[in-house]
Amino acid sequence: MQFYELHEDTAAGYTGYISAASKWGLPGSRCPACGNIWASAGTAYPSVDLSTHPSHAAFLKPRAEPIEEFERLRELIRALLPAGVPIPPGTRFGPLVGTASGSFGAFSLQNPWTLLVRREAMESLRQAGVQGLSGCKPELRFRQKKNPPELVELQLEPHGLLHPDCLPPRPPPCSRCGFESFQLPERLILDKASLPSHTDVFRLANFATVLVGTERFKEAVERLGLDGILFHELPLR
Ligand SMILES: [Zn+2]
Repeated sequence: MQFYELHEDTAAGYTGYISAASKWGLPGSRCPACGNIWASAGTAYPSVDLSTHPSHAAFLKPRAEPIEEFERLRELIRALLPAGVPIPPGTRFGPLVGTASGSFGAFSLQNPWTLLVRREAMESLRQAGVQGLSGCKPELRFRQKKNPPELVELQLEPHGLLHPDCLPPRPPPCSRCGFESFQLPERLILDKASLPSHTDVFRLANFATVLVGTERFKEAVERLGLDGILFHELPLR
């Protein structure tokens, strides 16, 4: 099985623009051990609905908190998430809320790590046997009132790792908060043993802004003539 990094196909000619943010999120965390204040870019679980959660107000405002408060809030919502998934500071939940305009292909990216798909395209992919497609309908006000597209933000779980061979030398992650900082290497290599077999689209667990699709996903997208994304093959080791 081959794996591919997913990018927006800017040459596809769509003018779609989304100005929106997730409805809820965990705060960033301030760590007394390493001194860093940080939040994950990319980690998002749009299908997690906090609207009836008794503490939902604590998840509305983006901010940084001392690590103990971040950890307290994380425990309040852990049971709503798939077992074992990473929940770093800054993790987003719920639908994107905001405005949208322009034309949208089968796939569109609000930013390089937030992938949206037209509902009918998602249904076709599911029927074609693509696994792991689920998500949440964003709450978008469209400028054009006529026939706005029905979009779904895909919930891309963090699975799979960049192989250590492609990563720069660096200090170990902070033992208290897990903070680790490195630039995305120019040439990515995936760690074969870490790749999931139960889903065909995901984000990387050690670099959440990198989106990956399987060969099965790519073939279904091409067979169905779905547009808006490009596939870049990633070597495995
Ligand atoms: Zn730390």
